[in-house]
Amino acid sequence: MKNKIEKVSKPDLILFLLVTGTIANLLTIFFVPEGDLKIILSDILFILLNSFSVLALFFAAFHTKKISMKLSRAWFTIAMAQIAFVIGDIVWFVFEAIYQIEPFPSIADFFYLIYYPILLFGIFFFPREKTSRFDTTKKWLESLIVLLSAILFFWVFLIEPLTSDVQKESFLVQFLTLAYPVGDIVLFSALLILIYNYPKGKTQAAIIFIIGSILIQIVTDIVFSYQSLTDSYISAGGWDCGWVFGYLLLGIAGVVQTKADQVSRKNSLWGVFQEFPIAQHIEKISANLPYFFVFFSYTLLVFFITEKNPANYLFMILINGAIIFLVLARQHIVIVENWKLNKELRSAFDELKNNSLRLQQTNVELRHEIVERKRIENQLAFDALHDSLTKLPNRTLLLDRLNHALEISKRNRNCNFSVLFVDLDQFKNVNDTLGHNVGDELLINFSDRIGTCIRKSDTFARLGGDEFAILLENHLGHNQAVEIADRIQNALQDPYKMDGQNFFITASIGIVDDINDDYDSAEAILRDADIAMYRAKELGRARYEVFSTPLRAEMLSRIKLESQMRTALKNSEFILHYQPIYELVHKRLIGFEALLRWNHPQLGLLMPADFLSIAENSGLIIDIGDWVLFEACRQMKEWRDRYPNFLDLSINVNLSGKQFMHHDLMDKIVHMLQETELPPKALHLEITETVMIENQDIAATLFNKLHKLGVELQIDDFGSGYSSIGYLQRFPVDTIKIDGSFIRELEKNYKGAQIVNTMVKMACDLGMDIIAEGIETHSQLDRLIDMACDYGQGFYLSYPLPVQKVEKMLEGL
Ligand code: C2E
Ligand code: CA
Ligand code: CA
Repeated sequence: MKNKIEKVSKPDLILFLLVTGTIANLLTIFFVPEGDLKIILSDILFILLNSFSVLALFFAAFHTKKISMKLSRAWFTIAMAQIAFVIGDIVWFVFEAIYQIEPFPSIADFFYLIYYPILLFGIFFFPREKTSRFDTTKKWLESLIVLLSAILFFWVFLIEPLTSDVQKESFLVQFLTLAYPVGDIVLFSALLILIYNYPKGKTQAAIIFIIGSILIQIVTDIVFSYQSLTDSYISAGGWDCGWVFGYLLLGIAGVVQTKADQVSRKNSLWGVFQEFPIAQHIEKISANLPYFFVFFSYTLLVFFITEKNPANYLFMILINGAIIFLVLARQHIVIVENWKLNKELRSAFDELKNNSLRLQQTNVELRHEIVERKRIENQLAFDALHDSLTKLPNRTLLLDRLNHALEISKRNRNCNFSVLFVDLDQFKNVNDTLGHNVGDELLINFSDRIGTCIRKSDTFARLGGDEFAILLENHLGHNQAVEIADRIQNALQDPYKMDGQNFFITASIGIVDDINDDYDSAEAILRDADIAMYRAKELGRARYEVFSTPLRAEMLSRIKLESQMRTALKNSEFILHYQPIYELVHKRLIGFEALLRWNHPQLGLLMPADFLSIAENSGLIIDIGDWVLFEACRQMKEWRDRYPNFLDLSINVNLSGKQFMHHDLMDKIVHMLQETELPPKALHLEITETVMIENQDIAATLFNKLHKLGVELQIDDFGSGYSSIGYLQRFPVDTIKIDGSFIRELEKNYKGAQIVNTMVKMACDLGMDIIAEGIETHSQLDRLIDMACDYGQGFYLSYPLPVQKVEKMLEGL
């Protein structure tokens, strides 16, 4: 606490001493009567005051040490100058008061005089702001102009008159008399240095006191010199208070510098003073000073035009000339500076112009980018909801619209809608045989054509692959969906011309008609439409089917069956029944047809009609078919080995369309024959006409290979499918099996009999064997024998039999 008080009060204490010293000095000057006492008192008090100011300056020097060594050095040097002055005063006092000797000239003058250069040095040491070369030169020139004018003033008013006054005195007196005005010129130079390099920082407050002090000193010196000149000077006279104030201000400068770092309260006088923009005002003054002094020195010249002393006049002219020269030099610098500034300005302007141009260009680019980005965004939004190939809405968009339609129809019972699920028939074949490009083109053509069958307000979407869907909203009347389906089927009648070729493509359509609030989700509607489409496919493609609830139940059971079928093979649930085939005349057994059965754990024995289409559609038929082929061959080989009477028995195996198309069928057959060691001629493969006609190219090569291998080929269900029989001569067909439906017609009318008769004759002519299927009665058998049909099978002859029954039969024969 004590320490704190000490710290705070030190500069204040000095300030107090300074002010008290000043007051004491002033009191002595003005109120103590003339005499020795007054001289002694004022000398002592003056020394005291000066000592206080030395103290203040040292304080400033020590204090600023922490901030800047340079600044501290400046204050220290000023303090030294002040010490010189104090020494001078002491000497003066000793001479004047103690020895009662006239102190001028004396050693005191030496100390007084060195005060000036030391002070100048001190001021020179004050840190100066770095300015441009131009500014520095300009400042020097301006201060020189002012200094020259001042020199002129001192010359005219002091030096020149003093020289003539002390002409008769000793050299020392002459020298000293002139040295003081020169010292004032030095002081003036110091003043100019301060004014032209006025600091902006925390020293600015202190410096203004130095300036004040120097100004007062110069004025007082001038008055003193003048009084000396006119012999009117009295020691401790009224003008002495000039020095008192001068050194007071110097001391205050030191105090202010010491206090500069103290945090000041904003509203206090000290705070206001610190905030005052002194530097700005000084700058204004320094800028105008040269003008004033040029005018001043010229005025002097004009006033002294009548000067008798030509040397004096010449000096004035020379100084004025020098000033003019300096003004010109300054002007030149200003012009060069301006020119340079102009250049910089222009280049800055050019740069600005370039920048603005660049900015403009960037702006344009940016705008383009925004447009492009917008376009991409739109494209992305479109892509997200549309099919890339046909540009039709995709599944997502369709589902969205379906949900929307569903919502509306729930609110308004009159707003019904329908959905058509359209699937191209055998589109996979197009892709596989003609390539994907043709496939894509076909899809586009197809979608264009369908587009003409519906209204603009309807949604026609591609769900993926060859699946499409149509949403018909706001029905006007019933059956509209069926009408559209009809229209689509009609539109598909015309061929597509691609690559110079005609293509026919058909579609199977499933319809969910007249939907109101019977659905909960769009997906459910689409699923039912899919089910109906599936049924249309099953019923022979190129047609439409309207969804009904039983259809869904059936579909579900089929789906269940399909999943069970996947494990059925592993679980050995499939078995084969064998229907004997006879040579009719002698009722001699020549072989069997292997017929597939599924021993379903829950549903019992299932017939091919119950599950074959599922196997076919799911592709499971391939594995099942492989098993049938293997099992039939193996079984036949076993029987032939076991029953020597039946060494020539053959086995008929049915091939499905998918199996037939499968690429490694040939290899499989070869492999199975090798494994089971069944002779190839004992294997008869049955293929329906339809499968053969639809895959003529594959059939041609396959048939030839099989024929070469020795496997016999039979046309199953002959007459029930295509009525073209031209293929019979193209393929190496060994046997045709007349479809059971013809046999049933045999006895009904003449026509029926005639057809069978023709078939038998034709086969005979072509050198083929013929097997009649589905012989159910004795008379049918007789008729066939009459027609010279060699072979046959049917319930009348024997039902398809399980293995044990076949074996029993073979054993019995
Ligand atoms: P499909 O090749 O025409 O076989 C003859 C079908 O007629 C058999 O029916 C047989 O039981 C039945 N049938 C035999 N005699 C008579 C008769 O006098 N009257 C009547 N009404 N029908 C008779 P199933 O066993 O139900 O087979 C149906 C169809 O399933 C077969 O017709 C065949 O196309 C297919 N199939 C059977 N097994 C297989 C197989 O292993 N693979 C393939 N791909 N298809 C098979
Ligand atoms: Ca058959
Ligand atoms: Ca058949």
